[in-house]
Amino acid sequence: MGRSAIIIGAGVIGVTSAYALARRGWQVTIVDRSSGPAMEASRANGAQLSYCYTDALGSPAALASLPRFVFGGGGVSFRLPMSTDYACWLTQFALNCSAAKFRKNTLAVLDLAQHSRQAMAALRERHDLQFAHRVAGKIHLLYSEKDRARAEQMQALKSARGCEQHVLDRSELARLDPALAGNDALDSDVIGAISTPSEVVGDPYLFCRNLLSVLTSDYGVKTRFNCAASALEDGPDGARLTIAHGEKLTADLAVVAAATDSNRLLAPLGRAITVQPMKGYSFEMPLSRGSPDISVTDSKRRLVFTHLKDRMRVAGIAELGNGSNDIDPAKIGWLIDAARDCMPDAGDYAKAGKFWAGLRPVTPNSQPVISRASKAIAINTGHGALGWTLAMGSAERLAELVEN
Ligand SMILES: Cc1cc2nc3c(=O)[nH]c(=O)nc-3n(C[C@H](O)[C@H](O)[C@H](O)COP(=O)(O)OP(=O)(O)OC[C@H]3O[C@@H](n4cnc5c(N)ncnc54)[C@H](O)[C@@H]3O)c2cc1C
Repeated sequence: MGRSAIIIGAGVIGVTSAYALARRGWQVTIVDRSSGPAMEASRANGAQLSYCYTDALGSPAALASLPRFVFGGGGVSFRLPMSTDYACWLTQFALNCSAAKFRKNTLAVLDLAQHSRQAMAALRERHDLQFAHRVAGKIHLLYSEKDRARAEQMQALKSARGCEQHVLDRSELARLDPALAGNDALDSDVIGAISTPSEVVGDPYLFCRNLLSVLTSDYGVKTRFNCAASALEDGPDGARLTIAHGEKLTADLAVVAAATDSNRLLAPLGRAITVQPMKGYSFEMPLSRGSPDISVTDSKRRLVFTHLKDRMRVAGIAELGNGSNDIDPAKIGWLIDAARDCMPDAGDYAKAGKFWAGLRPVTPNSQPVISRASKAIAINTGHGALGWTLAMGSAERLAELVEN
């Protein structure tokens, strides 16, 4: 008999973890409370594989903005009142806002992102997966000379690690994408952008669905959907998971990849991790003549535009501590208005639809938790705003960890 593993969570992190283990010969069962894969944070996110833009959330600038965020500014808000866990998260976040920590955390995630890029390339060589994967390039808009100076510093650090980035003036942007030409194409305050030609887009929902179908057909992976995991036990001979109706599943290893719900299983084992939900929203609209092919990140309004096949997806808003998946129409309205302010011709705003909300599982240092809680229990979660980008590399790291 080979080694067996149960993976709790069928988002991008759970599905890629299943792939990394199954490829190494593990007998894998995926358990998820939803009716299929990628029904929560991995469903309709920004769809950007940001292999070079890995900047940590905690920075001196973020610390200075904290008081403003409490009252909700520019799409970012911190929810009150405080619970002990939340206060602990905020304290650790504040401690990660020094210039030195920002640099360390950004570069640690950059390394993982490079690992992900390689692992994704290897996967695509092995299997013909269709998920609208495209090297689209990306620009990150800049609004001040201070922004530009910071961007130049980061560019120098990242190019030393193989990431090609250029800091461009506004007048140079049209060269990258004709849709950025003309006075009305972009907010008039934009002074330039960081351009990263190698950045990729891809649909995370299609990816999970199609990878899962390969996993079940070629690797014998089993699935248990509509099964909420309610308790996890750790034993010398393996892990025991209680699912719906009290049924118990056993395996040599359980991997907790349940995003913001992971502590429901880990806390009773004394293994709680420091993670909070950061809620965000997205919508889609038909393309128009002014739709850019290139991905655009707007640092002022903290939103992204992604040209995904035949549509434009816009994602943004960061509400720390909000753990509800409900769609607030006022927030969707804010996102549509903010996107229109930034790029009025990016798509047909009158036909905006497919409104969605999801919870980013964020850690105070912006680094995921990929660890072994015990011989029988491993953790792979806390990927925050970059889970889609980091999924393949994280899964490889997890598999290497449990093999040793
Ligand atoms: C608005 C927005 C935009 C984003 N844009 C990007 C982007 O452009 N690029 C990028 O890289 N990342 C982006 N992200 C981040 C990314 O979406 C997340 O980091 C990633 O989806 C997390 O994946 P996951 O598998 O950990 O979580 P999820 O996809 O949420 O998966 C967790 C799974 O666990 C299951 N689960 C939870 N509890 C239980 C339980 N008790 N029993 C059984 N099952 C359970 C859930 O049903 C779910 O399927 C964005 C996120 C948001 C919200």
